[in-house]
Amino acid sequence: MRVMRLFNSMGRELQDFIPEQAGKVGFYGCGPTVYNYAHIGNLRTYIFEDLLVKALKRFGYEVTHVMNITDVGHLSGDDDTGEDKMVKSAQEKGESVLKIAQFYTDAFFRDTQALGIARPTIVCKATEHVGDMINLIKRIEANGYTYMAGGNLYFDVTKLPDYGKLANLRIEDLKAGARIEVDENKRNPHDFVLWFTKSKFENQALVWDSPWGRGYPGWHIECSAMSMKYLGETFDIHAGGIDHIPVHHTNEIAQSDAATGRKPWVKYWLHAEFLVLDKGKMSKSKGSFLTLQSLADAGYDPLDYRYFCLGGHYRSQLSFSWEGMEQAKASRKALLERVLALKDRAGASELPAMDQLHPAVRERLEQFDGFLAEDLAVPRALAELWQLLKDPALPPADVLAGAYSMDQVLGLGLEQAKKSETQVDEALVQEIEGLIQERAAAKKAKDFAKADSIRAVLKERGILLEDSPAGTTWKKIG
Ligand code: AMP
Ligand code: ZN
Repeated sequence: MRVMRLFNSMGRELQDFIPEQAGKVGFYGCGPTVYNYAHIGNLRTYIFEDLLVKALKRFGYEVTHVMNITDVGHLSGDDDTGEDKMVKSAQEKGESVLKIAQFYTDAFFRDTQALGIARPTIVCKATEHVGDMINLIKRIEANGYTYMAGGNLYFDVTKLPDYGKLANLRIEDLKAGARIEVDENKRNPHDFVLWFTKSKFENQALVWDSPWGRGYPGWHIECSAMSMKYLGETFDIHAGGIDHIPVHHTNEIAQSDAATGRKPWVKYWLHAEFLVLDKGKMSKSKGSFLTLQSLADAGYDPLDYRYFCLGGHYRSQLSFSWEGMEQAKASRKALLERVLALKDRAGASELPAMDQLHPAVRERLEQFDGFLAEDLAVPRALAELWQLLKDPALPPADVLAGAYSMDQVLGLGLEQAKKSETQVDEALVQEIEGLIQERAAAKKAKDFAKADSIRAVLKERGILLEDSPAGTTWKKIG
């Protein structure tokens, strides 16, 4: 079993990943708040989690992947400020909260399925786990971390000496930096609500009886309660977007530590950087954002977006642009064309077993695994797939078997690739490849006139070349 190295946000360093129980991984990823469609930024984070889970499985781990669905209690500010996202959305659309939640939950799983994201082992709804949340809050209360004020039950962050350790927050700064909306019930600016009985809405749709009065849970408690319920009080990996570090995950840790008497909770925290637009952050609550449907309307397949995401490392910001999407589409098409050409060449012959593969293919797979194991270096793993497919000397059936194996993680649907999706003329592909190699040689020899003329000749014939650090790809135009 290969040991992965992963960047743990707790401590901010690369660490060998050693699960609590040999061979098994408990993985929790914060799921969507289902008051609207997921935007493509959210989807980037879920693609990252999918790649991670698939890499772990590739390396032989049995992964239990738990994802929550937030269908109650998430205010528009993560720090208890603003309006209830679910209630607001339901009121705007004149529907019940539960109907809205179901509609967007279904939409979410349609999107993730189209993106080749495997469904988590366990999907759990907040509204179906309020009893577990109440029980956890009772433990937090019994351990002395709470106070009632203005009808709500609060968590007192000063009771936990290392509150804010994930984000490197310092209590002194927290007190001084009262940047947040003033809630006069709070003793400290970063205290947060565990249980609301006072709502900003007259007819809060979903309420439950509790020891603190009829009301509903704060947002953070669901993740502590459901992760512990399904993965135990200590588990391996907790993931989410980077925006969750300072508030949501910080408060999840506080609650869990307070409930269990500071038993180790999560061993590895992994955070995906944001997808950004030219104009800045993509935000669901601010209204305008791009969904998978927006991309489909512009002529892109969901897997073009997956390919686009594979081009960036999860810990780097990824800038969305339509040019980038165009490139991803062309590259994915070229990839499928290559696979189809190989299928033609391999004919009906059976693909060799993995341990019978040509040594050069085995070596590429070894490299591929090495990249994945090193903090999920997917862009480099993808480049390795291209190298494999481009090697003209290797037997096609072996190359195909290697490519399909890589695609079990990358998820680009190579095995399902069909002619109808992309018609190819194998002779033409070979010719273009030959010219691309000739051009690369010309560039190397600083014969730029020749390189340019090859590009121009191909363009005349409707073939556009695109250079990137991973090499040159081509697409048909016109
Ligand atoms: P939400 O539905 O708002 O709770 O967010 C779902 C997931 O998407 C969380 O893990 C967020 O951290 C993540 N997320 C939100 N915005 C972005 C973005 N622009 N890029 C990447 N991930 C994001
Ligand atoms: Zn969460």
